[in-house]
Formats: sequence, structure tokens, C-alpha cells
Amino acid sequence: MVIPKPCCNCRICTEARKKGGPYWRTGPSAFLHDINLLIDTPAEIAVQLNRCGIQQVQNLIFTHTDPDHIEGFRVVEQITLDFRSWEAYPEKQIQLILPEYLYERLKKICSAYGPLIDFYESQGFVTSTTFTDHTAIDGVKINALGVDRGSQIVFIYVFEKEGRRIVYAPCDIKPFPEKRSEVRNPDLLVIQPGIFETGLKHNFFYPPEHISRKTLYTFEQTLALSRRINARQVLFVHLEEYWNRSYDDYLAIAEKYENIIFAYDGFHISV
Ligand SMILES: [Zn+2]
Ligand SMILES: [Zn+2]
Repeated sequence: MVIPKPCCNCRICTEARKKGGPYWRTGPSAFLHDINLLIDTPAEIAVQLNRCGIQQVQNLIFTHTDPDHIEGFRVVEQITLDFRSWEAYPEKQIQLILPEYLYERLKKICSAYGPLIDFYESQGFVTSTTFTDHTAIDGVKINALGVDRGSQIVFIYVFEKEGRRIVYAPCDIKPFPEKRSEVRNPDLLVIQPGIFETGLKHNFFYPPEHISRKTLYTFEQTLALSRRINARQVLFVHLEEYWNRSYDDYLAIAEKYENIIFAYDGFHISV
């Protein structure tokens, strides 16, 4: 959910409308500058790229095909289109790099004309490459770890370069593959905080059998997980409107711990 959620006048949304900046949150995406790699395209991705001053997207990868991560896929057309031919400017073509499973699944994402990917490939907006388990781009090794969610496989990506390791696990990562050596001892773990049990709107408490408990860890469980895999630093992303916490509230939580940060739109971190 974006913050402010349209038509919502709760404390969080009202404050975000008034203050903007880090109080305002759009969909989950990230950009790895080392290799000009965009990870996921939420509905607001064009605005996000402009706001962050991104000059070129050379590579694109998806974690999974849920709407909040792929709704903005058409950004490949917006970035690359030469209106004279309705084909891509060659120098702006984007390399789509995906685990084989995700590439097949992406074909299910359609407009009235058929699969989006077919059109984007035929016009040269993207060129597609698939891999299994791992690949590399310009000295950055990428490990793809599938999380079987039953209805789909969601991918956690581990990026490694010059002995540094980032684990990127923004959404639907339960059960987290914590026994895999690839996720151990990361310099940075980027992960969703999971369920906050208290302080929710309407004084709501998640009952034991609530569906969200099947897809999400709790915040405490996520912290424990980060300690078990020995993450040096934890960056929380995918912060939902319904957690009922503002930028200031997250700052206050982070102060209680040594190594956690809550991201905000445009947040930049070096590893
Ligand atoms: Zn709200
Ligand atoms: Zn998500």
C-alpha cells in the first residue's frame, strides 16, 4: 500500500500528505548502482526513477510477479521508446535477467493484446536472458534462492562483489531459506519487517490463524532471523500503511537496536 493511501485520513496518511519526504511511501523497488540493475517495477516506478535521478536502466530483474512488484513493467516502454518507429532506441534497450521459472510466469502478465513480454521483446524494449540458480553481471554475482509459496515461487537474491554480500528479500519470503550458505553472514540484509503485533489501526490484533501469518513473519521473528543468519546490518523495506507507523515511529524503533534501519523512498546505502 502506498502512503498516503488515497482517500485515507488516518494519522499516518494525513501526516504524509502534509510533510511529504520520507513520510511518503511508494511501492517496493531497488536499484543496484554497480550494475545499473533495477529490481522490481511497482506502479510508481517511473516517478521513482525520475525522483532518484537514475540516468540509465541497463538491467531488470523481478523477485516475483505479484502486482505490487510488476504493475509498472511498462516502464521499459516508457524508458526505451523511439516514437518514430515504436521500437527501442538501441542504446536504451534493457536486459531482462530472470530465473527460468519467473520468465515463464511473466508470460502470464497480459494486456488485451496478449503477454506484455512478447510485445516488449518484439519492439526491442527488452532482451531477455534466463538463468538457473546463479548468474553474474560485470563482476557482481547474483544467486537466486526460490521460496516456495505454494501458489508461486518467490525469489530472494544474493548479490556478491569483492567479498561483500547483500541479501535482498523484500516480500513473501516465508519460509526464509536460512540454512542456505548463500544467505549467511550478509553485510546487508534487505527484508520486510513482517507483522507488527501492536499499535495497529482499529486496535486490531492478528489472530493465530490469520492469513497474513502464513506469508509474513512477525517483526520479532524477523529480527531473530536476522541474528541467526548473522546479518551485519538490516534494512527494512516494504513498509505498509497498515502498520500504522510513521517515519518518526520507525526512527524511534531503530534507535533501540544497533544495526537496523528503516528505509524510505529514495533511501541510499553503500555496502
Ligand atoms: Zn491511512
Ligand atoms: Zn510485495
